[in-house]
Amino acid sequence: MLTSIQNRSVIVTGASKGIGKGIATVFAAQGAKIMVVARGEADAVKTVEEISAAGGTAEYTLCDVTDEDQVAAMVAKTADTFGGVDILCANAGIFPQKKIIELTGDDWDAVMQTNLKSTFLCVKACIPYFEKNGRGRVVVTSSITGPVTAFPGWAHYGASKAGQLGFLKTAAMELSRYNTTINAVMPGNIVTEGLEGLGQDYLDTMAASIPLKRLGDVKDIGYAALFFASDEAAYITGQSIVVDGGQILPE
Ligand code: NDP
Repeated sequence: MLTSIQNRSVIVTGASKGIGKGIATVFAAQGAKIMVVARGEADAVKTVEEISAAGGTAEYTLCDVTDEDQVAAMVAKTADTFGGVDILCANAGIFPQKKIIELTGDDWDAVMQTNLKSTFLCVKACIPYFEKNGRGRVVVTSSITGPVTAFPGWAHYGASKAGQLGFLKTAAMELSRYNTTINAVMPGNIVTEGLEGLGQDYLDTMAASIPLKRLGDVKDIGYAALFFASDEAAYITGQSIVVDGGQILPE
């Protein structure tokens, strides 16, 4: 057990489903207190119930992470509920697939707002709480798509995910004065509802092409995030790690 995680107050955006739920479950199992953040109440409640049934501590807040006021209110509610904010997992994201020739300006803006602007808004809102604590941790869910590889149909998505890494490098410098680190996990293909929409044939072909011969589990990302959030990772900031079963390795 990473004792530094126990009783920590953790915000996980997009924790109602998929990777965020995996991160929340892994952190809760280590004794952290989880604020599940999403827009949909039914899924958020279900995540809280599952964590509670497993003996963990979780509450939920409905919040659209593209909205600055809602983000500020969500962070304040977390601090009120758990007595502070120790760790932010900025994970919420969307990945609609559309080729550039079909992409509209609105499509572009929606992805940038949800994936990139939200990361900035959540980090900014947490800074006063990290300053008050005298420490903090931020873990961003980026992607291999954009920063290290590319797939047709995800130009806007890849730009948003590469943008997160650009943001975190400067953020790492600015957050250091609050004894706060910020790092990113870059998942490969992880089995979530979002990915299931791509179809079983696509997923089977993808799994066969991965050196470890499987798609990722949401907890694979949770464990990497857990390390970055721990005291044991105190000297790592502005960095990112690929968690992809070897997918991006050259043949
Ligand atoms: P899912 O679609 O399974 O879950 C997305 C989560 O984000 C949901 O909880 C959703 O809840 C929430 N969300 C989306 N938009 C908003 C918003 N505006 N405000 C608040 N919450 C929001 O996706 P994944 O778990 O697959 O993806 C999570 C992250 O991981 C994303 O950043 C994605 O880019 C990244 N990633 C995923 C990979 C994969 O293979 N699955 C690979 C690489 C990166 P609700 O709709 O209720 O708001």
